[in-house]
Amino acid sequence: MKSVLDIEGVYSYTTVLMGSPILLKLFKFDEQLVSHIFGVIKHYEDIFTVNRDQSEVMDINHAAGIHPVSVSQPVFDLIKIGKQASLIPHSSFNLAIGPLVKLWKIGFKGDKVPPDNEIQEALLKTNPEQIGIDIPTKSVFLLQQGMEIDLGAIAKGYIADRVRDYLLHEKINQGLINLGGNILTLGAPTGFWSIGLRKPFSKKKDQDENADEQFVGTIELENMSVVTSGIYERYFEQDGKLYHHILDPKTGYPINNELDSVTIISKNSIDGDIWSTLIFGMGLEKGYQVASRKPDLEGIFLTKNHEIFITSTEKFRFKLIDESYHIVDFNSRNK
Ligand code: AMP
Ligand code: MG
Repeated sequence: MKSVLDIEGVYSYTTVLMGSPILLKLFKFDEQLVSHIFGVIKHYEDIFTVNRDQSEVMDINHAAGIHPVSVSQPVFDLIKIGKQASLIPHSSFNLAIGPLVKLWKIGFKGDKVPPDNEIQEALLKTNPEQIGIDIPTKSVFLLQQGMEIDLGAIAKGYIADRVRDYLLHEKINQGLINLGGNILTLGAPTGFWSIGLRKPFSKKKDQDENADEQFVGTIELENMSVVTSGIYERYFEQDGKLYHHILDPKTGYPINNELDSVTIISKNSIDGDIWSTLIFGMGLEKGYQVASRKPDLEGIFLTKNHEIFITSTEKFRFKLIDESYHIVDFNSRNK
């Protein structure tokens, strides 16, 4: 763990977990508290991960088509939530996407476009209806051999909420949690936190120490979560084409639409994490309408041609920084 006193009297604690930089900002120096919190995050990583051979989720995956597996409450809850999200009509969110994620290896060593026949084969093992859930025994049974659950699109949101709950329980109601870009704010002495909305494909500090982080704008809010799903977060290029990490469960290929990213502002980070992935998959037209209709969340859409669509700014303030972007009113856009 690294701890630094920021100029404003904010203490920043950092570490690396879940393959991502983790940042906690608090208004007091308490390495013991923070080390407990990082331990909690690590515990969740250990039970949720599918990037190692052993975890509770991997126990379920290894037993696919063979037998049900009883799991701990967090794993059970998250799978239940993820299955529900996968069964929403027109949802391109799919908790059973694992075989495709493993095949593409996007963001990992050896990522390349897999042969189409392998994609078609993997697709047959991604039906979320075939995730059997038994409440009395808290067990999960993947009905077909080769099926795999992947919590990559929701775990960080869930964990951020748990860290928030813990801080509030400890009577800490000011601070910020950043789990690899999945941000949850508590209160701020100034009345708001200012969160940078990253410019798609700009370098991140953790990728290049000397890089200037570039932001499209800032989002000012407190006691809210900010989660982005974007094609620039993990991708590779082959033959001049970009292949990113959010896959279309219908085709087995990365989702291809007019969007670079969707950012969801919500009370709970789990909602932001689910809906940013889900709404990204719907594209601008449908995604904007769905986000507008949901009273508990707001969306910021960045298109590939530098338009910004915002559902409503009732819950936050958006300040534009990058003038190559334009805020466009959804109802008066050129279709
Ligand atoms: P996020 O960054 O929250 O949008 O989640 C993306 C991650 O979720 C990917 O890196 C995969 O691990 C996983 N994933 C990819 N495609 C999907 C999908 N269609 N539904 C659910 N999870 C997905
Ligand atoms: Mg997500």
